[in-house]
Amino acid sequence: MKRKDRGCYCSLWQQSPETLIEQGVKKGYCGVCNICDQQGHLRHAPGAFPYTDAWCDQCFKVQSVINLLQALAIPMLVGSLFFQAWLFTGLAALLFGQGYWLNNDGKAIIRKLSRKLV
Ligand SMILES: [Zn+2]
Ligand SMILES: [Zn+2]
Repeated sequence: MKRKDRGCYCSLWQQSPETLIEQGVKKGYCGVCNICDQQGHLRHAPGAFPYTDAWCDQCFKVQSVINLLQALAIPMLVGSLFFQAWLFTGLAALLFGQGYWLNNDGKAIIRKLSRKLV
């Protein structure tokens, strides 16, 4: 990922470097990954999710996939209810559930997945 595509808060180094140093962030980064505690970047969550957190590049990739699946689950759920396709309803609920669960309790799993990508 190119630096300018990241949309992170590295510009904080110009504005208030003390804040970053206080958080234990090293030069070239702007946050500590919330999943694996490595140096990473503070940025908006992937997909249309309204939150900001810090991820390293590897964890961010995994998080993108999870968020994408979760975002896909919503129209799938609505569609399957409309067509009364209960199999898809279950699948969508499962998809949405796994994303929710991973985001809250499954950080160890994301960490493992992201290490596999390296
Ligand atoms: Zn950054
Ligand atoms: Zn990480």
